[in-house]
Amino acid sequence: MAVHIVGSINIDIITSLERLPMPGETVLAGATARLPGGKGANQAVAAARMGAVTRMIGAVGEGDAGRWMKDRLAAEGIDISDVEVIAGEETGTAYIAVDGEGENQIIVVSGANARLKAPAPVEEGVLLSQLEVPVAALAPVFAQSRAIRILNTAPALLEARCLFDFVDIIVLNEHELGVYVPPWEAPFSHEDLAARARDLLARADQAIVVTLGANGALAIRRDSYRHIPAVPVISVDTIGAGDCFCGALAALLDEGRRLEEALPIASAAAALCTLGRGAVPSMPARGAVFDLLS
Ligand code: ADP
Repeated sequence: MAVHIVGSINIDIITSLERLPMPGETVLAGATARLPGGKGANQAVAAARMGAVTRMIGAVGEGDAGRWMKDRLAAEGIDISDVEVIAGEETGTAYIAVDGEGENQIIVVSGANARLKAPAPVEEGVLLSQLEVPVAALAPVFAQSRAIRILNTAPALLEARCLFDFVDIIVLNEHELGVYVPPWEAPFSHEDLAARARDLLARADQAIVVTLGANGALAIRRDSYRHIPAVPVISVDTIGAGDCFCGALAALLDEGRRLEEALPIASAAAALCTLGRGAVPSMPARGAVFDLLS
């Protein structure tokens, strides 16, 4: 089978500064780094490194940045035949400035991602999407696909609630849950979080996974919930941890594992992702994930 990812493809331009500029201010920086990014692309790399046959469905612009991103994905063994090149459009770009304390400012130009059209339904394996591409492109594919459908509601958009009836598993972090079920005054107990998250379930066979950073994750069904502890590690940066978790989870479900069996493994993958800087460079290989668990 395969993991089919409908999602964003960005290039991340990252600049390190001593301090972030105030409005109207100019701050000089030494250098920039260019990294592959976009939640869709990050999750595709995570799924592929976990060993899944992975297909990316997305859009890039004409020119060097789009070619570079397609090459990065293809180098991971990801099928890029459904990555469309949109004439006259630029490739999605995230301009990221990080100061000495790790605080950041991010501006994202959606570019070609905003022009993604609804793909054909996915009949087998796992369909995985996030919300950096138009909800209008996701609605038909979620409504019509027979694959296992996972929606990672990042970034949280209220208009995406129309998709919830058509997904099997929703994955979101605490902050994103707060957008869908306000008012929100964290911290909540696991019991309270589970009760709130259940408001989003439309069918008895659905599950919600709420990720809690270093506190692990909760898998919530209509009548029960389970806590999956994080694997303790000395984290360097948590960028991409959520994307790693989603991509690995999709790969593990595609192998035929049950959700409750797949989650501790996805949690180990995400813990490893926090050991390196950036998202794509620190997505772990399958062997490293199972080594951590053994
Ligand atoms: P997001 O990146 O979307 O905010 P989280 O921060 O909740 O997502 O992280 C997703 C998952 O990554 C968590 O459920 C956990 O399994 C793992 N994780 C995140 N931070 C850590 C950490 N400091 N140590 C170990 N695992 C972590």
